[in-house]
Amino acid sequence: MNFDLTQDQIMIRNTVRDFAEAEIKPKAEHVDKTGEFPYDTFMKMGELGFLGLPISEEYGGAGADTIAYALAVEEVGRACGSHGLSYAAAVSLGCNPFAAFGTEEQKQKWLVPLAEGKILGAFGLTEPNAGSDASGTQTTAVLEGDEWVVNGSKCFITNVSFAKVCVVTALTDRSRGSKGITAIIVPTDTPGFSTSTPYEKLGLKGSNTAEIILDNVRVPKENVLGTVNDGFIQFMKTLDGGRISIGALSVGIAQAAYEAALQYAKERKQFGQSISKFQAIQFKLADMAMHIELARNAVHKAAWLKDQGRPFGKEAAMAKLFASEICMKACDQAVQIHGGYGYMKEYPVERMFRDAKLMEIGEGTSEIQRIVIARHIGC
Ligand SMILES: Cc1cc2nc3c(=O)[nH]c(=O)nc-3n(C[C@H](O)[C@H](O)[C@H](O)COP(=O)(O)OP(=O)(O)OC[C@H]3O[C@@H](n4cnc5c(N)ncnc54)[C@H](O)[C@@H]3O)c2cc1C
Repeated sequence: MNFDLTQDQIMIRNTVRDFAEAEIKPKAEHVDKTGEFPYDTFMKMGELGFLGLPISEEYGGAGADTIAYALAVEEVGRACGSHGLSYAAAVSLGCNPFAAFGTEEQKQKWLVPLAEGKILGAFGLTEPNAGSDASGTQTTAVLEGDEWVVNGSKCFITNVSFAKVCVVTALTDRSRGSKGITAIIVPTDTPGFSTSTPYEKLGLKGSNTAEIILDNVRVPKENVLGTVNDGFIQFMKTLDGGRISIGALSVGIAQAAYEAALQYAKERKQFGQSISKFQAIQFKLADMAMHIELARNAVHKAAWLKDQGRPFGKEAAMAKLFASEICMKACDQAVQIHGGYGYMKEYPVERMFRDAKLMEIGEGTSEIQRIVIARHIGC
């Protein structure tokens, strides 16, 4: 067994870290305060090849492995949670469905510009009445001649206000239940496709999240991603991969909170000494360091299994569950170590605490991850 990163993985991590320190971290407070989506930064990330990192070079990507991609998400998330979520969504949810299930023509038309970072994509699964139970999709697509006519709505969709393409799930055969759901590619400038004003959120305010309305949206018959009625299984597989990236993002946010808390603990003096000398504070920091290390290992193991072409659904769910919960805990403890200052906006741990909560909700809540793991262990 070898726990060392390869030269390529180290190079990618360092490149993303340098960019994140220089270009993303300085904007973290601004995007949180204003809710502005940092589109220009994403275009720069696109030029540097970040948006197609794990996509093969044949389709405009960098051909990196999943471990390198997880390292990149961690570094972006360490600099800013909002950038991190939008980055993870752009790759795992924007590019990956095309890479995994698209026809050659769909890959050329959509995956290449997505991976080259010229456009952003979005992934529309969740609906007002179909969240954890995505099989309850109510959006419909009816074939009329050579066109699908799509009607319905999607909620909480990351990056969609800035996306040029969105893959949405729709019922194409009601009698087949979840086996009658199809993934349909919808260019966002199609008449009848519109998005709401972005949601006002607790955290991750610089990550764009909006609702989609699909009102008699007509797209060509060929816009089915892969095969008709395969949408549900495609999206479930996409989410397995997405969980690795949310795990990595959780590690990144937790790492940032830990670093801020460690530094503060060394600087802050009470009772005539720095608070890092108190065992109560040391134990909090020790737990944070241990949890982050374990979560990172779990994320890398799931990524490694994926790269080997081996089953990774259980490990991805475990990594996402563990990393998201230790992320929330680490941010909570980082605020605690900052005392009253941690509750104030002038210290970044306040933002991280708010950003962290989404990790336990997006791409399957903690409850759903436990259900997935329970199924894998034969319950
Ligand atoms: C910022 C943000 C970005 C997002 N981005 C996207 C995106 O890009 N694309 C997309 O499609 N979706 C996206 N989502 C949606 C996200 O995946 C869902 O919010 C999530 O899956 C939970 O669904 P829900 O909100 O409907 O909650 P619900 O499913 O209504 O769950 C409510 C509560 O009930 C629990 N629960 C539900 N079922 C069970 C069960 N069987 N057993 C035990 N407990 C259960 C849940 O764990 C949760 O605690 C995003 C959400 C947010 C907040």
